[in-house]
Amino acid sequence: MKIAIMGAMPEEVAPILEKLGEYKTIEYANNKYYEATYKGVDLVIAYSKIGKVFSTLTATTMIEHFGCDRLLFSGVAGGINPTLKIGDLIIATKLSQHDLDITAFGHPFGFVPEGAVFVETDKDLISLGKTVAKEMGKDIQEGTITTGDQFVHNEERKNWIEETFKADALEMEGASVAVVCDALNIPFFILRAISDTADMDASFSFDEFMESSAIISAEFVMKMVDKIVE
Ligand code: SAH
Repeated sequence: MKIAIMGAMPEEVAPILEKLGEYKTIEYANNKYYEATYKGVDLVIAYSKIGKVFSTLTATTMIEHFGCDRLLFSGVAGGINPTLKIGDLIIATKLSQHDLDITAFGHPFGFVPEGAVFVETDKDLISLGKTVAKEMGKDIQEGTITTGDQFVHNEERKNWIEETFKADALEMEGASVAVVCDALNIPFFILRAISDTADMDASFSFDEFMESSAIISAEFVMKMVDKIVE
């Protein structure tokens, strides 16, 4: 077993590296990958840089180059569902790309021929996540996450995304990682802690809460790893 733990930004993987203490740094494809052994299991940790392209590259590299056979993503997101408050966790059940648009040809938003609007995540990892949450006495929501190459910080775009994709949260990497893992048959888990609510105050909220929310998500993902290796 070799587990990939991925984030988009340095702050999202820093708490994981801190917990591991010892790891080896490997430079590959313009990025750094951190290899560690944790409770007898091999881990590869990396942050991809922001957005769908970089996250696709990193997820693919972790699987195809480093040989990871499952992937856990940890990071922050903008909340859409009003029940999600800053610091709350959401597990993605399915993901879509809100900025993928060939509707000019009669296709729905988020769809390209031979693709699908939504990619579903792994059911076993979701139920493991729920068990972990229960053991921690933590409230955790499941829901739809949507991804695009834009930091959403206005009510109008947020409402459009909500209506079009019935999404509970939005971010910039989840759906691309989902496409990679789905195509390569790698069970994957996408976890996000809310840093903002994608409205006009989003950038201020993000700056204030990104680090604390990233820690909440990272700590949960490490508990997932504990459970997987048990
Ligand atoms: N502060 C960064 C930019 C952050 S972009 C800089 O200046 O370099 C936002 C990151 O957090 C992305 O990785 C995305 O996945 C997530 N995210 C959190 N809130 C978001 C929102 N409202 N819209 C889109 N992505 C969001």
